[in-house]
Amino acid sequence: MTQSIRSLASDLRQGKTSAVELTQDYLQRIQQLDGQLNSYITVAPERALAQAQAADDRLSKADAPLLCGIPIAHKDIFCTRDLTTTCGSKMLANFVPPYNATVVERMDANGAVTLGKTNCDEFAMGSSNENSFFGAVKNPWDLNCVPGGSSGGSAAAVAAALCVAATGTDTGGSIRQPAAFCGITGLKPTYGRVSRLGMVAYASSLDQGGVMAKSADDCAILLEAMAGFDPKDSTSSEHATTRYSEQLSTPIAGLRIGLPRQYFNDQLDTKMSGLLQDALRELERLGAQLIDIDLQQTGLAIPAYYIIAPAEASTNLSRYDGVRYGYRCSDPKDLQDLYVRSRSEGFGAEVQRRILVGTYALSSGYYDAYYGQAQRARRLIAQDFAKAFAQVDVIASPTTPGPAFGLNDKTQDPVAMYLEDIYTLAVNLAGLPGLSMPAGFYDHRPVGLQLLGNHFDEATLLRTAHQYQQTTDWHTQRPGLIAGGDA
Ligand code: GLN
Repeated sequence: MTQSIRSLASDLRQGKTSAVELTQDYLQRIQQLDGQLNSYITVAPERALAQAQAADDRLSKADAPLLCGIPIAHKDIFCTRDLTTTCGSKMLANFVPPYNATVVERMDANGAVTLGKTNCDEFAMGSSNENSFFGAVKNPWDLNCVPGGSSGGSAAAVAAALCVAATGTDTGGSIRQPAAFCGITGLKPTYGRVSRLGMVAYASSLDQGGVMAKSADDCAILLEAMAGFDPKDSTSSEHATTRYSEQLSTPIAGLRIGLPRQYFNDQLDTKMSGLLQDALRELERLGAQLIDIDLQQTGLAIPAYYIIAPAEASTNLSRYDGVRYGYRCSDPKDLQDLYVRSRSEGFGAEVQRRILVGTYALSSGYYDAYYGQAQRARRLIAQDFAKAFAQVDVIASPTTPGPAFGLNDKTQDPVAMYLEDIYTLAVNLAGLPGLSMPAGFYDHRPVGLQLLGNHFDEATLLRTAHQYQQTTDWHTQRPGLIAGGDA
């Protein structure tokens, strides 16, 4: 249950196991353990076993893709044909899409088996996975702590070996932050690298689908299957993809890693700082060169993001009107009542807060003061990164201010929750790729080191993480919950 994709692929080809057996094992583990974690919203045994059977048939012939027969899970924000897609919301609790997201389509085409759909914050809004209509997800390392959000179900499921790997989405940190809190590796690709078709929209100029897995190697294999131009998504990039999984073994000697003074300062928790310094020293030992850099506009990231994201969300979420699809209130008096009650009853508190903030920021007379200003701040942040990447190849930073926090610790204080995103948001505003990898333990809870790259340079991030993972074993540690569950 802790095997890599390559090792499972080899077992499948040698007949040591079959896709059906592997799928049955995972379904059984989900049944045994997910009551404690709540990492899945929907488990789809029949569909998974049918896909596994088809994968076994394909494996018996030559040239099956590496992912053929590998059991994965999709964040419940990717549309899956004939399989409920809730976005963690009451609004879409019964929504069964008539089509697949491109990401799902590509995973299917590679023969991956979909075990089910993972829990997430409602419409991907959150940093703790406590905003799901289907209940909070628990962190497998400490059941009293959050797994991070919004892709918390995917992160918890991977960490607890309730799937081999999972998809996630990242609008402001939702792949990297839960990856850090759950001790796994997560990659948010460059904006436009992975198709957004069928990925339910939160903030369209920031949303990006990506991968969550145990190692950089697994992430590279998944990204290779998922990335690339999609003619059906107008924001998808035509920039050529590369064979990420074949570039991992190139050493990182001479790689220039920038350390932003604004991130590694005295505001960073000393224990966090100590753990991250150890990780950086290891990268230095592997031949990387550490260079102090400046990201002067760091302070603009949270205010700019928390205007732009809600503004775009308020527009995207206007489609849920109780008329076309989604939740509809009972016995509406008139059309106005239908709109108001369907949306008030169908959306949770955080989603309603964002719609209100976003609508206000976009309203006439305020647009320039808020949205316009935030867009200017966004431009400055992007310029900051462009300057930095003229000097260095990769930027390193903490993924989060600390390790996973307690359930309910921050639910009453939205601003404290937003501050959790301090290291992750700027990357989305600039459209850059970012990766989080396990880099040690803080009182038994995992912490992550974040690596940021230049546009479309996912290969360098994956390679750096892979090289680090060749000489460290943080990424191979599994929570006690799964002890004894090794296959
Ligand atoms: N925590 C951030 C938010 O609530 C980011 C979420 C995300 O990346 N989807 O908006």
